[in-house]
Amino acid sequence: MAGTPHAPGRSGVPLRDRLTGVLVPVGPLQLSAEEVRQLWSFIHGDIMHGSIRRLLRSSLGLCPRHTWAYAVVEIELWQAGAGTRGGHQPFDVSILYEDLLGHIAEGLDRGTSLLHRHPDQVLVPVGPCRVCLDTSSGELSGLRMGYANSNTEALTAEANALIHTTTWCFETVGIWRDRVCPECDPAVPHGTGDPALLCRYHLARRHPVHQRLRTEVAARLGDVRSRLRHLTISMTDQGAPAGVAENTSWVEALGFFAGWGLPLYLATDPQEAWAAPASQHTDGGD
Ligand SMILES: [Zn+2]
Ligand SMILES: [Zn+2]
Repeated sequence: MAGTPHAPGRSGVPLRDRLTGVLVPVGPLQLSAEEVRQLWSFIHGDIMHGSIRRLLRSSLGLCPRHTWAYAVVEIELWQAGAGTRGGHQPFDVSILYEDLLGHIAEGLDRGTSLLHRHPDQVLVPVGPCRVCLDTSSGELSGLRMGYANSNTEALTAEANALIHTTTWCFETVGIWRDRVCPECDPAVPHGTGDPALLCRYHLARRHPVHQRLRTEVAARLGDVRSRLRHLTISMTDQGAPAGVAENTSWVEALGFFAGWGLPLYLATDPQEAWAAPASQHTDGGD
């Protein structure tokens, strides 16, 4: 694509996340061939199984790395589809995370009661990431086809180039830049920023989350979800085209579930993203 921004190559960007090892490091994902193969097979079938969908609800989708990786693999490798882009769109990802946004919003909106867990426990995943499990056990390796007769190494390189994902992030950054979780955002001084924008990790760390904040977050997630639904429909034959508000919804949804490391890396000017003094971001706690 002419004029496509090419982000990979910004090497040496320090990881300043306060939840080191939990959220996606700020940098390229560098997926392995096995990860790409697993995610591709996930896109092409597993997600539609009812039992898998139930497991995905309990685990709140995939881990942060594989949440973004799932979107990257679908966006980079999907060649043909309905909608104005004709592929290179986060279709299955949007369906999954629209469902999970509804699940979380509903859970946060529940009142507290003596009989039930605190409503913010809906933010805590139960069970491991399905893709981590499959790639680490190797149990399924060799039993499944990869991409039918395709060259796995070439497709992995194509996914890791992040061309289309970077384009999406650049096209929508004007909207999502002000909606980044303040605790994920290196440009926001620690302890400031709107708590209603917190991602699920940083929100969960505020346990017990006050009812007013839970209601605000649930309303925000409801808004993201309705735009995400519009986006999903725009990728089908019957769908009306999506505008920039809808196009940014999947980034906001994944930012909530997996932290903002990847879009910040892909679409933010490094000078701006890393302008804050490092000392603000190495204190390790709230
Ligand atoms: Zn994982
Ligand atoms: Zn965060």
